[in-house]
This record gives sequence, C-alpha cells and structure tokens, in this order.
Amino acid sequence: MEITSNFDSGNIDVVSIDDKKNIIRLKIRKDTNSDFLQWFHFRLTGAQKKACKISILNAGNTSYPKGWESYNACASYDREEWFRVPSTFKDGELSISFTPKYNSVYFSYFTPYSYERHLDLVHSAQMANDVSVEIVGKTFEGRNIEMLIVGKPRRNKKIIWVISRQHPGEPMAEWFIEGMLERLLDPNDAVSKKILEDAYFYIVPNMNIDGSIAGNLRSSASGANLNREWHRPTKKNSPEVYYVRNRMDETGMNLMLDVHGDEELPYNFVAAAEGVPGYDEYLAKMENKFINHWMETCPDFQDTYKYPLEKPGAANMTICTNQIAQRFGCLALTIEMPFKDNRNMPDKRYGWSDERSKLLGGSVLNPVLHVLSELR
Ligand SMILES: [Zn+2]
Repeated sequence: MEITSNFDSGNIDVVSIDDKKNIIRLKIRKDTNSDFLQWFHFRLTGAQKKACKISILNAGNTSYPKGWESYNACASYDREEWFRVPSTFKDGELSISFTPKYNSVYFSYFTPYSYERHLDLVHSAQMANDVSVEIVGKTFEGRNIEMLIVGKPRRNKKIIWVISRQHPGEPMAEWFIEGMLERLLDPNDAVSKKILEDAYFYIVPNMNIDGSIAGNLRSSASGANLNREWHRPTKKNSPEVYYVRNRMDETGMNLMLDVHGDEELPYNFVAAAEGVPGYDEYLAKMENKFINHWMETCPDFQDTYKYPLEKPGAANMTICTNQIAQRFGCLALTIEMPFKDNRNMPDKRYGWSDERSKLLGGSVLNPVLHVLSELR
C-alpha cells in the first residue's frame, strides 16, 4: 500500500504503513509558514478489497479539534463523485475504516476544488455575454489573482462584490461561486436577469490561490491569514488583500459577500458586522431582510445556529466583512457553510457536498434581488 499527496492541494505526512494488518498512520502537516492545520487530501493505492484502518494521529492537535466530532471524511474513486466514509474521532485521533473497491482512492477533508477547475471556471465565464476577466494583481508566489466583472457597468447601477476562499482549505466556498455564476449567467433565469438590469458584480472566485495549491487550511504562501489582513494589508505579506481592497476603493460598492466554510457548526449561516462603529438601523434592517428572505426561499439556510454576536464597537476590523461594512457603509456578510452536513437536512451518503454548495450559491441570488433596490 502507498500514500501520496504530492499533487494540487495535497496534504498528509505518512507515519507508518502496516501492510500485514492494513493499518495506515498519518499526520496532517501545518500550513505554509504558519501553525494552522486541518486540511487533508491524499491518495491511497494498492489497498483494493483490504479492510483498512486509516488514522490521522494529530487530529486532536489541529486548529479546530471539534471539527472532527460527527464528521465523516470524503472519498472518491473517479475524482468526480465524493462520498462520505465512516470516521470516528477518539483519543485525539480521526480513524477512517474503509475497504476500497478499486486499487486507487482519494481521501479529502471536503471535495477539492482544483486550480485547473478554477481556471476553467474563470475562462468559461468570460465567454458569456457581459462578462470580462481582470487580473487584479499577483499572489505572494506571483500567480494571477483573477476577478470576473459580470453585467454591464453603468453609473446608476448597484455594485456587488463577492469574494471567496480567503481560507484555501474551505473549497465549498468556490463550489458556491461556481453555482452562483451558473445561475447568474443563465439567460433564462428571471432572477439573474432582473439583478443584472440594476446591478453588476465584481467576483473573486479564489482569493488565496497559493494556499489552495499548497493544501493549506487558512494561510497564504507567506503564512498570512488573509481574513485578518483587511485593516492594513501589505504588498509584501498579503498582496492578495492589498490589491483587491485597493480595487474595491476604486469601484466602491453597495453589497459585499465573503464566502467561507466552518469546521465546527453543522449549518449554513451568515455573520454580519454588528460590532463596527458605523453600525446603524439601516444595516440592521438590511441584514434581517436578507437573512429572512434567504431562509424563506432556501430551506438549507438558517439563522439559529451561528457565531455569537459582537458587542457594539467591539468588531475586529482586520476581518473583511467588518472592514468593508465600516469602509463603505454597505451591507456586508460572511457566508459560512459546513464541512460536516446541514443537521437540519442531513444526507447520509454525501453530507454537505460540492453539489449542495453550488445550489446554495445559486440560491443566494434570491435575497440579493430582494434587497437590491434598497442597497445604499
Ligand atoms: Zn474561512
């Protein structure tokens, strides 16, 4: 048996492989230049029809150990369909018991979203009407940061920014963008057509390309947690945020969505900007309107289980949503999806999945349209 992870978004270190007992012992490695760790993605070969016990020995010492409670790992034979495999978290170890049907099988924390797929997404989108690609800047390692401009920019239209995957090990965020784009670019979709009559979008599908390729959970290649860089991003350490925030200052905006995944909570939810100094009745009203309409139109979204609300004036201004709400006085929301499942509507075979993330991404256009005319 062999374990490999030297590929796009691969992450695992092999401790030992016992070919007689079919016991595989592994460790997740730390993010580049950082102490975060949680994302894993590896390939097992030579284990066909062998009842394997795969243990991640340092699961208890990862960034979010509670993330492993009630969690089942994702696996795939064809790299298209990712199903869940029974996993248990005990004494600090995550153990996966699995008998592969085929000789080669991939395991991952969540369905990966590859760099190749990212490039395919950007390039297929640019072929649609009223879409263009702009390179906003370069990542720490010198890769292009792609932004899509969707809709006809015009003076009196609303401006909507959507950014995703500041945390690279949250690939559900880019699946969400793929689903949102599919719906937004569907000329037969009345909601999308209506939105694009009155608004246009700036969309950054992957804020942290270097970290995604490296198989990091939260850090960029420089070791920066990009969602703690929004107060004072630097060209040297956090160019991804530096260039995007500068571009936002040029365009201004009326709505911003920042898409993420949450390791622990088994629900879809949003976090808003109630702790920023400029928080007012307007922002409170718009948040409620957005959240309530999303719940009414998409049963996969809820507002009961979420992060504790911040006290007035106590917001961490290095976080994107807070910085943007304060900077532009606009509605800004962090969208969170689960790694585990939506406990309100569980799916035993797939858990929360790439496909469900895509559908949730399409569904966000309903509340966008609902609040559009009132966006300031
Ligand atoms: Zn995140």
